[in-house]
Amino acid sequence: MNEQLIKAFRVVHKITEAGGKAHIVGGALRDALLQRETGDVDIATSFTPEEVMKVFEKVIPVGIEHGTVIVRYQSESFEVTTYRTEEGYEDYRHPDKVAFVRSIEEDLARRDFTINAMAMDDTEKVIDPFCGQQDLNDKVIRAVGNAEERFKEDPLRMMRALRFCSQLEFKLEKATHEAMITQAHLLNYISTERIAAEFEKLMAGPGFKEALKICKNVELYRWFPIFKEEPGLIDQIPRVRLYSFAEVIAFYREFSSTFTSEWIKEWKLSNRVKRETVQLSEALSRFKIGEKLSWIVYKIPDSLIIPFSRLATALELTLSEEVLLEEHRKLSIQDRKELAFQAEDLLNVLNERDKGPWIGQLLEEIEYAVVTNQLVNSYQSIKEWAIKWNLPETD
Ligand code: ATP
Ligand code: MG
Repeated sequence: MNEQLIKAFRVVHKITEAGGKAHIVGGALRDALLQRETGDVDIATSFTPEEVMKVFEKVIPVGIEHGTVIVRYQSESFEVTTYRTEEGYEDYRHPDKVAFVRSIEEDLARRDFTINAMAMDDTEKVIDPFCGQQDLNDKVIRAVGNAEERFKEDPLRMMRALRFCSQLEFKLEKATHEAMITQAHLLNYISTERIAAEFEKLMAGPGFKEALKICKNVELYRWFPIFKEEPGLIDQIPRVRLYSFAEVIAFYREFSSTFTSEWIKEWKLSNRVKRETVQLSEALSRFKIGEKLSWIVYKIPDSLIIPFSRLATALELTLSEEVLLEEHRKLSIQDRKELAFQAEDLLNVLNERDKGPWIGQLLEEIEYAVVTNQLVNSYQSIKEWAIKWNLPETD
C-alpha cells in the first residue's frame, strides 16, 4: 500500500474515532484493488463538512453545498464528502439537488460503474453492494443499476465508460453497451471541455483501440466536434497510444480537411495545446518532405521530441525515438544565439551593404547550414561563407 493510501486510512480512522463513519471510495479503492497506481484519494463520510472541520486542523471548504471539503493531512490532500445522493438531472448536466443521506450504501448507489461503487473502512472491510469486485476480476465496466437511466441522468458517463475501457483494458458489459447505443445522442448536452478531458484519457490508455471501436460502434463520436462533420475520422486508429491532446489533434489533422486552428476552436482547447499542435504538425510536414532530421529536432522544442516520435509512429512513419534523441544530442547548436557569428558581425564583414531584410535571411541560411552540419560554427568559417555569398554572381 502506498504512502498516500496509508495516510488516507489515518484520516478515515480519525473520523471514526470522533464518532463518525468514513470510507475510502471511488477510483482510489478501485485502483488499489487492481494494484494500480492511485490518483487522488476520495473519502466519503457520515459527518457534515462542519463536523469534519472540527476533526482536522487544516480543512479547505471547496464545495460545502455539495458536502465536500479538502482535508490537508500530513502534507497530503483528501477530498472528503458527506454521504449523498443526486437527484433530477433535468438538464442532463447538473443534478438539481444533492441530498445528504445516512448510509454509505445509499451513497454508493449514485456512482457510475460497479467498479467505482465500492467502499473500504478503516478495518479494510470492503462494502460492495453491486459486486464491483467480481467485475474487477472479470474486467468489465457495468453501470450501477439501469444503464439507460444512468446515462440519461448524466450522459458524460458514456465517455467515462469508454475511458475506463481504455485505461483499464476492460470490456463493456452487454446491457451497458446497448444502453450506450440508444443514449449516445445525449452527449449533445455535455460541454465540449468535459468530452475532451475524457477523450484525451481514452487516447492515452493502453486499450485505446478497443475503446475507439466501441466509440464507433455506439456512434458516440457523432457528437464530437469535427468528427460529426467528418465521420470517416473515427476509422483512423493510431498505431500507438497518444499521451496529449496536441498529439491527438496533430494525428487526426492528417486525415481531415479542417485546419488546426478550427480543431482547436471547436474542441475548445487552450493556447498551449494550439502551440504544441502547430509545432508537431510543422515537424511532421518537414519530415514528410524529407527535411534533414537535425533541422527537425532543432526546430521543435525539446519537450516535444518524444511526443513527435509518438505521433510519427502513430502515423506508421518510420522514425524512432532513439534516432531523434541521438540527433538532438549531436546538435551543434541548440539556439540561434549560440551561432559564433551574429548580425553585427555580418554588418561588419559586409560593411558596404545597407541594413535590410537580407540580414535576417542570411542568418537563417547560416543557422540552417550550421545545424545541418554543412558549415562549422566558428567565426572564421561563417565569415568566409558570408563573403562568398556576397560575391557578385559570375557565369
Ligand atoms: P480517476 O482515476 O480518473 O480519478 P475516478 O473513478 O476516481 O477515476 P473521479 O472523476 O475522480 O473518477 O470520480 C471519483 C468517483 O466519483 C468515481 O469513482 C465514481 O464513484 C464517482 N463519479 C465520478 N463521476 C461520476 C459521474 N459522472 N457519475 C456517477 N459517479 C461519478
Ligand atoms: Mg479520482
